[in-house]
Amino acid sequence: MSGERLAIDGGEPVRREMLPYGRQQIDAADVEAVVAALRSGWLTTGPAVEAFESALAAATGAAHAVAVSNGTAALHAAYHAIGVGAGDEVVVPAMTFAATATAVLHCGGTPVICDVTADTLLIDPAAAEAAITPRTKAICAVDYAGQPADHAALRQVCARHGIALISDACHALGATSGDRRVGSLADASTFSFHPVKPVTTAEGGAITTDDGELAGRMRQFRNHGITRDHRSRAAGATWEYDVAEAGYNYRLSDVQAALGTAQLARLDAWTTRRRELAARYHAALRDVPAAAPLAVRAGVQPAWHLMMIQLDLASLRVDRAHVFRALRAEGIGVNVHYIPLHQLALYRSRADCVRTALPVADAAYERLLTLPLFPAMRDADVDDVVAALAKVLSAYAR
Ligand SMILES: *Cc1c(COP(=O)(O)O)cnc(C)c1O
Repeated sequence: MSGERLAIDGGEPVRREMLPYGRQQIDAADVEAVVAALRSGWLTTGPAVEAFESALAAATGAAHAVAVSNGTAALHAAYHAIGVGAGDEVVVPAMTFAATATAVLHCGGTPVICDVTADTLLIDPAAAEAAITPRTKAICAVDYAGQPADHAALRQVCARHGIALISDACHALGATSGDRRVGSLADASTFSFHPVKPVTTAEGGAITTDDGELAGRMRQFRNHGITRDHRSRAAGATWEYDVAEAGYNYRLSDVQAALGTAQLARLDAWTTRRRELAARYHAALRDVPAAAPLAVRAGVQPAWHLMMIQLDLASLRVDRAHVFRALRAEGIGVNVHYIPLHQLALYRSRADCVRTALPVADAAYERLLTLPLFPAMRDADVDDVVAALAKVLSAYAR
């Protein structure tokens, strides 16, 4: 491998066509389900939405699932339902997608950004506890890369302070912690069904919870704050309804829900395949000392939404940006998840959101790369990625 001319310097790339970091899988059953929904006469808020909610509740082990229009709406609905309003705070980890925090702002609240644990980049329970004030309403744990956060420790922190635990599980559908599935580990868990996530509805989201009252509040919130939906009106033979609050139209359509139910039927098989591919990466990366995968916590089975590595920059002559470009030139669609929240323009100037230095997230960000991982990948694709990494990193070794 070493000594071979890099594609970025005009050499032969490992792959001619770019391998993306993630990709949805749509098969004939999905297409049939969508067509059946289109022909059913119900395009939204109909039986396909209820069927999807039941299937998601079953897949997560939660008592209730509430489908909404996207993962950000799911976070907004969950924060709203637990009572986050003006002046309230929610503690969120620095390593996450922006929506985890912006949905707190949408409620009029303040996201307070805390640091992560160095080896997993999951929310650090001690840092989260240190960020709690009398205004804190919840901690939001992000199951980053598809690995469940330390929910047992976080639950204890939340119980001590009398606050809620929200799980941003947008990466983690299919993951388990002990004998419990993600979606039933927190007071409310949020999911996204964007195409790159574990299952897709094109755009979509949901919240799972065991609390029927919380579920009811989220159903009202997603439907304009209306107190009765069209079904209960029809059942009661009345046109009457009331608007109790300024809700949103965050509904998911039956067309999308039908796609989601068809996708959920393959979740277990896809999760198994993701775990196989992750295991292959872990075995092969033992021979690439300058690239280390994130640690896996004891007792958890990640869903492997993302395959992250951290570069050992001290052993390289170039920075992460250079490695990124060199790997793209080799036809490997690497990515970076994420720029830490407090480095984004929205939060850089907000001392109310960023109250301490966040050195673990800052250091991790400089070294982070996301490698391709999706269920349709072949073993040979993993081998290509690792070969490209070994080629690039050995060329830049100090
Ligand atoms: C994708 C994602 C979201 C937002 O979901 P959308 O469906 O894109 O609105 C929120 N949090 C995390 C961690 C995500 O990965």
